[in-house]
Amino acid sequence: MEGSIKEGRVSTILLAERAKCNFDMDEMKMFFWRFKSNIDELDEMEKHMNMAPDVLPNHHKFLEMTPEEQRTDLWKRMNKLNEIDRAQYFTEFDPTKGPSFNWWVEVFQGLMPGLGLHISMFSLSVHYLSNAEQKARWMPMCKNLNIIGCYAQTELGHGSNVAMLETTATFDANTDQFVINSPTITSTKYWPGDLGRFCSHAVVMARLIVGKRDYGTQAFMV
Ligand SMILES: Cc1cc2nc3c(=O)[nH]c(=O)nc-3n(C[C@H](O)[C@H](O)[C@H](O)COP(=O)(O)OP(=O)(O)OC[C@H]3O[C@@H](n4cnc5c(N)ncnc54)[C@H](O)[C@@H]3O)c2cc1C
Repeated sequence: MEGSIKEGRVSTILLAERAKCNFDMDEMKMFFWRFKSNIDELDEMEKHMNMAPDVLPNHHKFLEMTPEEQRTDLWKRMNKLNEIDRAQYFTEFDPTKGPSFNWWVEVFQGLMPGLGLHISMFSLSVHYLSNAEQKARWMPMCKNLNIIGCYAQTELGHGSNVAMLETTATFDANTDQFVINSPTITSTKYWPGDLGRFCSHAVVMARLIVGKRDYGTQAFMV
């Protein structure tokens, strides 16, 4: 029998090969995922996935969808996870915990475009670069998905050379605000994944200018 991804059928040859497996699967799992707690977390996600087999499991169709269809699919999946276990997937996630990010990528493929960068680059930046007051304000919003963010560091003319970024954040004492400006083509923000598709906010790396003084590259919430 031929295998088919579309029809969810495993070929006879592959099944026969798998039956010949001569190593301990649990041992291999442990080698691959490193800690028992990771395996437990993954098993839990699989259990949740099986609770909504029409929505959550990854499917090749996702790769054939238009961006608009992918967005709709993403929100459907997010709502479902929210219903199943709001705490685990939203309010309680820990952006500093590496494996969690991998789970999102590997287990819920469709959630990667909208949430992968939000959880990793954006929430991690908020977590590590904020003071206590800022963290208390922004982190609950990150976790509750009241905001979805991206990370805007790279510019058309500046990648690894962060010290030379050209975008400025000039303090305006009259309005008590920062004015963010990318004045040249080379200062155009480039590669801020998901910015135009899903995000309401961005951590923008820009040169802090107060008066005539340049304080170098700093992070700003926009
Ligand atoms: C898939 C993807 C997603 C991305 N997502 C984001 C995002 O969300 N937000 C964002 O801001 N950016 C994002 N980026 C941009 C990424 O961070 C930049 O590509 C990175 O900073 C490198 O910059 P660059 O491509 O301009 O390379 P360059 O900085 O021009 O570097 C080119 C090469 O020169 C080498 N090099 C550079 N400087 C030196 C040096 N001083 N000494 C020796 N070697 C050097 C580098 O190692 C590299 O091999 C993304 C990039 C990719 C590929």
